[in-house]
Amino acid sequence: MSNLNLLGKDTIFAAHSFFSGGGFGDLGIEHGCRLPVLTACELLEDRAKLISNNFGETHVFQGDIWELKDHMVSTIEKMLSGNRPWLMLLSPPCQGMSSNGAGRIQAAIRDGKRPNEDERNRLILPGIDLVERFQPDWFILENVKRMENTIIRNEINEPENILDTIARRTLPLGYTVRSSILDFRKLGVPHNRERLITIGCRLPEITKVVPPQKEIFFKVPSYLHPVASHGPGTNNEFITLRKAIGHLPLLDAKSKIRDDADPLHRVPKWNENQYNWMSVTPEGKSAFENNKCAHCSYINNNSDLYCRCGELLPKPSTEREYWPCDCGEVVPISELVCSCGTAKKDKVINKLDLIRGFKTSYRRLRMDRPASTLTMNSGVISSDMKGHPVQNRVLSLREILILSTFDQGLNS
Ligand SMILES: [Zn+2]
Ligand SMILES: [Zn+2]
Repeated sequence: MSNLNLLGKDTIFAAHSFFSGGGFGDLGIEHGCRLPVLTACELLEDRAKLISNNFGETHVFQGDIWELKDHMVSTIEKMLSGNRPWLMLLSPPCQGMSSNGAGRIQAAIRDGKRPNEDERNRLILPGIDLVERFQPDWFILENVKRMENTIIRNEINEPENILDTIARRTLPLGYTVRSSILDFRKLGVPHNRERLITIGCRLPEITKVVPPQKEIFFKVPSYLHPVASHGPGTNNEFITLRKAIGHLPLLDAKSKIRDDADPLHRVPKWNENQYNWMSVTPEGKSAFENNKCAHCSYINNNSDLYCRCGELLPKPSTEREYWPCDCGEVVPISELVCSCGTAKKDKVINKLDLIRGFKTSYRRLRMDRPASTLTMNSGVISSDMKGHPVQNRVLSLREILILSTFDQGLNS
């Protein structure tokens, strides 16, 4: 890595990233903050390759951090030649836990049994080892909100709140640590994302102002966290879909699935059913709420698939197999006996049923709000909150990039 800057007498202005995923968080560090990411570590091969493709000078460790840790230490030692890194990013895939799950782990440890635990929640431990070893000026963890309540089995096999583990291990090294939930919409991000952001710093000018303490979680974002720039109490509104993506060319999941001028502004085609259900779904609503009959205008119930006049309502539905009983019932094929007591007949009929789904699926977003939380299945209308507010389609790749703030073209 060329042109590394030394800060003070022993700190290299660069970052090391563990649990990097596809390197999307690191994009903000290297390209947003102009802070070179010297190393990245990721378990999965395809994601690690993506990092290598996008970060030509970053050394990528691919594999399990528990196994790689010693190799990582020696590699990073060579890179830093006795200096500290300025920043370490460690955002292990913590699943977050209800107090229920925490209680089970505690009870198992007490009884001398190995608890039934989510191993991913313990990945923080090798991460803290690396912070201890290299003592960066800053470290940052980004994680699910519920991490705040997560109990893990710590390095000495005792149950401990994960934030207490971080505090206990880093306080003796002189770190001030603060952990708060940030609503990213308040920072001008045009989609809903709330994450627990934990920041540690060992610089005397910071620890003087924000003294180290054992209790690190704060309901109100701390002095170390960024100040809200958007939303109530600020001079800026939240960034809405209209502002973020309202200017993009029209697309349609049947008749125009790509924009010739932008290869990333494209959407998957919908099948005829999906198109029909969604084309009559208003902004902000789900196709499961299409209760009004086009034939007689009667407003039916959410549980109805057919109007009382007999017309099929435009709701997400699928054919399922039934057997007809002599009593008049149609019985699901998996049931061996009818409620009247008659045993299953060989005859099979197909009947349309509502798709079993969450009412957040087949749902359109709202133009005058930020998008809902972006998730992996952004191209799938049957997933949560994926419909464009007014056009018949899901969001395009270009739009997802803009809403993720990966797109340089976004003017906020
Ligand atoms: Zn009707
Ligand atoms: Zn029957």
